[in-house]
Amino acid sequence: MSTNKLKIPKRATEITPFYVMDILEKAKEMEAAGKDVIHLEVGEPDFQTPDCIKERAIKTITEGKLGYTPSLGLIELRKAIAGRYKEKYGVNILPEQVVVTSGSSPALQMVFSCLLEEGDEVIMTDPHYACYSNFVKFLGGKPLLIKTEEDENFRLSPDEIKKNMTGKSKVILINSPANPTGVVMSAADMEAVSALGLTVISDEIYHGLVYDGNEHSILEFDKDAFVIDGFSKRYAMTGWRLGYAVVPQRYIRTIQCLVQNFLISAPTISQWGGLAALEEADDDLEMMRNEYKKRRDFLLNGLDKIGLEVSSKPAGAFYVLVNMKQYSNDSLQFAYDLLENTNVAVTPGIDFGEGGEGFIRLSYATSIENIEAALSRIEDYLKKISSH
Ligand code: PMP
Repeated sequence: MSTNKLKIPKRATEITPFYVMDILEKAKEMEAAGKDVIHLEVGEPDFQTPDCIKERAIKTITEGKLGYTPSLGLIELRKAIAGRYKEKYGVNILPEQVVVTSGSSPALQMVFSCLLEEGDEVIMTDPHYACYSNFVKFLGGKPLLIKTEEDENFRLSPDEIKKNMTGKSKVILINSPANPTGVVMSAADMEAVSALGLTVISDEIYHGLVYDGNEHSILEFDKDAFVIDGFSKRYAMTGWRLGYAVVPQRYIRTIQCLVQNFLISAPTISQWGGLAALEEADDDLEMMRNEYKKRRDFLLNGLDKIGLEVSSKPAGAFYVLVNMKQYSNDSLQFAYDLLENTNVAVTPGIDFGEGGEGFIRLSYATSIENIEAALSRIEDYLKKISSH
């Protein structure tokens, strides 16, 4: 039967686009046509992966260690990850609880797959990282959005969760430091979220990139929680596709079967590289963290100077969510107009849900020079549209 007669299933067509990818494509076309585009849209470190990681990967290739690994990951890497939890957060986890995956995105899918039944609600913030609600809906679950407000520092209040919880609520998904707001949850709030009696999934992928205060792992407060984490952001390893989940013991076998079927195993070269990251890249991480902090301060200061004061100062990750409502309530249109008129690419807030509408997200995973030039172009553009 010809495939053009087949109806594409609803669960596939309901996956919403990630508009920032459309912006990025347009920006690339403009670059190909010779335009000098500044990228503040991409959520990807501009640093090179540290040499010690690259060298370990090259050694892996030279030695020919290129077969599949065990489905849950190299035991050496799982032990090193478990060791980090003891060292950094003072929590004991077994290496067996660590499930290594090809990026943290599959880790999220595997964890949701072994938790959600049809109609189960997953509580998450609005705005939130765009993929979360798509993952949940794809598996028959329902996102239950809790709006967070700029003038409350985009805080996810445990009381607000409690007020909105229903008999169908099963999971609370938290993300600290958060994409797109950069907010870092306090220990007290994490503890209070854990005490609400639902299963908590904590996306900790931006850990290590915190500039004010300290990040906490959910495992400090809730031994039965799931953690999602990965190497993409803090070690500048996006293309290596390496992430992991930490899961309670009774889920290990279920997750193992899912991984065996869907992923087989995470990339072998990347896993050895990840081990080098944990063993040798602490200084590189500190260098990158210091640099992001400088850029964040420079960007916030610059935004303030051009009349775009950010009241919710991001404490981690590498994003600032900027309120543009005085200029536009249509963030997608605004992002396109800005790109066409100034060659500055930004992410429209609507990518992160209704709660992000009227905002744009700027990534400071780019040089101070680029940030400075982008601010100057944005300033000129805003003056121009204000005078019309
Ligand atoms: N969680 C959050 C909050 C993210 O921002 C991202 C990447 N943009 C991911 C998960 C997925 O990252 P990866 O699959 O590269 O580990």
